[in-house]
Amino acid sequence: MTATANDNSLVVRKTSMTMDAEAPASNISEIKSFVLDTVDRNAKAIATLSDSIFYFGELGMEEHETAGLMTGLLEESGFRVERGISGFPTGFCATYGSGKPVVAVHTEYDSNPNNSQVSGVAEYKNIVPDAPGHCEGHNVNAAVLVAGVIAAKRAMEKFGIGGTLKVFGAPAEEQLISRPYYVRDGWFDDVDVALHNHVDGALRTVFGPTHSAAVSAYFTFHGETSHASVSPWKARDALDAVVLMDMGMAQYREHMETDMRAHRVITHGGDQPNTIPAKATVWWTFRAPTAEGARKVFERGRKIAEGAAMMTNTTVSVDVMSAVWPVYMNQGLAEVIQQNVELIGMPAWTAEENEFARKLQQACGVKVEGLQQSTKPLSGPVRQGTPSNDSGDISYKVPMGRVAFPSNIPNVPYHHWCGGAALASSIAHKGAVAGAKSLAATVVDLLSDPKWVARAKETFATQVGDVVYRPLLPPDQKPPLDLNRKAMEAFRPKMREHYVKERPRFV
Ligand SMILES: [Zn+2]
Repeated sequence: MTATANDNSLVVRKTSMTMDAEAPASNISEIKSFVLDTVDRNAKAIATLSDSIFYFGELGMEEHETAGLMTGLLEESGFRVERGISGFPTGFCATYGSGKPVVAVHTEYDSNPNNSQVSGVAEYKNIVPDAPGHCEGHNVNAAVLVAGVIAAKRAMEKFGIGGTLKVFGAPAEEQLISRPYYVRDGWFDDVDVALHNHVDGALRTVFGPTHSAAVSAYFTFHGETSHASVSPWKARDALDAVVLMDMGMAQYREHMETDMRAHRVITHGGDQPNTIPAKATVWWTFRAPTAEGARKVFERGRKIAEGAAMMTNTTVSVDVMSAVWPVYMNQGLAEVIQQNVELIGMPAWTAEENEFARKLQQACGVKVEGLQQSTKPLSGPVRQGTPSNDSGDISYKVPMGRVAFPSNIPNVPYHHWCGGAALASSIAHKGAVAGAKSLAATVVDLLSDPKWVARAKETFATQVGDVVYRPLLPPDQKPPLDLNRKAMEAFRPKMREHYVKERPRFV
């Protein structure tokens, strides 16, 4: 049965009765009651953590304040923390427990450029003009991860639950960077099942292929400068090569298979018009429903680049910045998440929260329907989407499920100011509590009842079929750590003025 807001309050009441007055819980195990109570008790810490990261607003691989706060809290709660994994200063792995099964939980916490949006107002308004900010909700992802695993860890301790909980912080999701490196470097070799948590407009889960594979690469052309007016015949124009590559890709587009994509930005096109550029760079992303398809579009792009270099008498170097598999949500894990989603139910929204959601939906021109009132039945296999997420490699390495939680407004576009307008509000906070409960309850299910891990592995075998996972990421590729450094350094001093003063405290 799908729980409603009212069912949810009933669950909470039953929970406290179990703990305080030893009344029998009809359908909630003692362990789960404890987990749900632990999350409820930390509602304020969850909100403070989520808001702190909202105001840090850090771009990918610059999440120093964010990762610092998260790892500090995990360490204080008894996790062993390894920082800087796979060469990412803002990546980490926090571990608790030992032995099998090994349950991994991971999420992202990066912001986007030019997405500084005041929370709690239904109009476009920067916190710091032109600065980066959260307009999707990765700030809440981080809070749900920390709160969920702390609650699960407390339950492992109290009830003597065996197994290992591995918590991964994944930098730079928006550039599809970190998780393929983790998988390539062996961080998931001992993992049995993995869970991802992500902000949404509903408390839900799905199974099936949700995202596409992608290869993202810099193509840098190298030529020779000369005065553009006095001696243009002396030059070898790198920007010409970028333009010709663009034309070649435009012709190729007609022959791409359905659902393949290619898009680009020119990141360096020269310095001034009277000096013919000796160096020009174009950044391309190639996508396809399968890893093999993405590899195919990329290889075609590389050939076109070589052709453009030949035509302009320049040379080209290719730097693969990221390469990710499609995301496939596992059915067995969706089943265990779904039963917790139904147990926990949607938050009980106030009339003001609903009204704010309607105003925002109106302001951004999407369907006006307020907040979701009830959870959705499990659906799948879903139709594959064209976006990508860097957790795809994990989902082909081990069974992976996703807890989507209601901390943003249904229908609003992400990376748009509307996507940021609720992210430090009571809507985000309540959604985070529901998300952390669902995550923690699922972790304890997986650790304490072997049937769930077995079911995940059984459905994983069917899901994968004869596809063999091998990383798309080149074996010697290093993370492009300086990608967002300058942008973040430019804005951080002004953004710092808005930081939350209080430090979250989990009890
Ligand atoms: Zn995201």
